[in-house]
Amino acid sequence: MTIAYPVKKGLYLNITNRCPCDCAFCLRKNADGVYGSDSLWLDHEPSFDEIIAALNKHNLADFSEIVFCGYGEPTERIDIVCEVAKHIKDAYPSIPIRLNTNGLADLIHSKPTAQLLNNLIDTVSISLNTPNSAEYEALCRPKFGSCSWQAMIDFAKECTSHVPNVILSIVGEPITSPEKQEECHSIAESIGAKLRIRPYE
Ligand code: SF4
Repeated sequence: MTIAYPVKKGLYLNITNRCPCDCAFCLRKNADGVYGSDSLWLDHEPSFDEIIAALNKHNLADFSEIVFCGYGEPTERIDIVCEVAKHIKDAYPSIPIRLNTNGLADLIHSKPTAQLLNNLIDTVSISLNTPNSAEYEALCRPKFGSCSWQAMIDFAKECTSHVPNVILSIVGEPITSPEKQEECHSIAESIGAKLRIRPYE
């Protein structure tokens, strides 16, 4: 199983294949891995010990950050995210930790979750994807339905009180037009987050 895999200068962690969305642009539809990685489909969800063992196969000093990402939504396992982040913070305090997420952790766990990231995650990158709920539902097809977009925005806003860097991300053209990119920029600004426009792959 590929649990830890390098992408550029980051070491990425693949801890689950579960996700409550079915995004039209999801990379999982096109290939079994990314950036030359082996397959990111997991035989089983790795335990804390398996994740640490996978991390320890790499020299963390070679990487500029550790990123929870992979072929699923990491916050499906938010407790493991926090345990592993705590371990990294204790063992390698200078390495920044990023969480890439769809921002639906509050709905997944039926409780507020942003505060769990306090002092553990340095950057949270949340997939905004669209400037409104109706387009989000059509593009990301979240299992929670029409409340999802607002829940994601509320999570992002709450993260700004607990995580130093909060980024809302969207996919550039042809997924998001320049006009809609501008709307997303305003949304990010209004909650104190930055906007990142990822290239369509
Ligand atoms: S949230 Fe991420 S993993 Fe889930 S379907 Fe969308 S792109 Fe794929």
